[in-house]
Amino acid sequence: MRPNEMAAILHTDPWTVRLGAAPYPVPEPGEAVIRVAAVGFCGSDGHDFDTACKRPRIPGHEFCGTIEAVCGESPFTAHDRVAVDPVIRCGRCPPCRTGQENMCTSVKVYGCLGNQPPGGMAQYVKVVMDNCLPLPAGASFTHATFADPVAVALHALEMCGEPKGRACAVFGAGTIGLILGQLLMRGGARVIALDINAKHLEIAAGLGMEALDANGDNPLPPLSVDVAVELAGGQAPTLDWAIQSAKRTALIVCVAQRPKGAWIPYPAVSRKELRLRGLYAQRRQNFKDAVAMIGNNELVLDPLISGAFGLDDIEQAISCFRSADSVKTILLPNAGAYGGQEEVKASFAHTPSRAGQPRPAYPAMRGRG
Ligand SMILES: [Zn+2]
Ligand SMILES: [Zn+2]
Repeated sequence: MRPNEMAAILHTDPWTVRLGAAPYPVPEPGEAVIRVAAVGFCGSDGHDFDTACKRPRIPGHEFCGTIEAVCGESPFTAHDRVAVDPVIRCGRCPPCRTGQENMCTSVKVYGCLGNQPPGGMAQYVKVVMDNCLPLPAGASFTHATFADPVAVALHALEMCGEPKGRACAVFGAGTIGLILGQLLMRGGARVIALDINAKHLEIAAGLGMEALDANGDNPLPPLSVDVAVELAGGQAPTLDWAIQSAKRTALIVCVAQRPKGAWIPYPAVSRKELRLRGLYAQRRQNFKDAVAMIGNNELVLDPLISGAFGLDDIEQAISCFRSADSVKTILLPNAGAYGGQEEVKASFAHTPSRAGQPRPAYPAMRGRG
């Protein structure tokens, strides 16, 4: 690595994800540079990795860390711990002005495929300061990587309506399913989690959900639920199952994305007068509420963490992420070879750096205390 470079994960053509180097990000007015403490892999990263990309890019949208540098007026001081909302909204278009900013017509997401700004799978990342939320003292960095999926689950919860006394089925006990299941239970719903993976079902059962094995040897049991949430997406048969399992006039909430031309068993939708709701990303208020909930330890997140790795262990991290049993794989970009030892469950004020490790030459910021 050259002096002005940092360690970063690069997704390169064709279908390769490896450790590389990238220039230190330089903040522009209104931006902050974050020293990334932890970054989660999301299901959408898997879809992105499976796609060829034209230029090397830095992935990762579920990240948090400490303020390293800012450009212009800032409410932050050096080393402030922050969670970063990965969704950049313009604030001016009609959806933004009517409180539906998740549908912003020029929405950008850090670290996603396409013409999007670099993500958090690097030692440093620059972000719009407005997207940084102070992290409560009670939130560890590893838990804070869940802020985005918790925000999506909170957005889905709004769509599910009043949970009290209702039977809700979540089809797919991955990260969002396991979080949404907890939120629905807190609201007084009976929650049934369906998955084809024994490990995911074990976690769901451990969290108090009724866990149902839906793999090929175990045909879908007859269910009659008020709300069915589809979380697997892609070509998975879960949307079909959700529609089969719904009682008359039930609500189907489609959280996961499906490809163009995806098939819907329409006769059942019509015959049972089902209501289908799509969902896209999350709103800023969802993200704020998610950070507060994580700070108050209102959700059980540790069983969802399948492994945490330094940048130099990217191959292990990818195989953990790709394994069928994994729920959430986390990278600690400034741990291991690039910084101090950081425990998976550690809650700390500032990521330690290894003595003598080069740091970018950002103008000095005054720290707190
Ligand atoms: Zn995500
Ligand atoms: Zn907008």
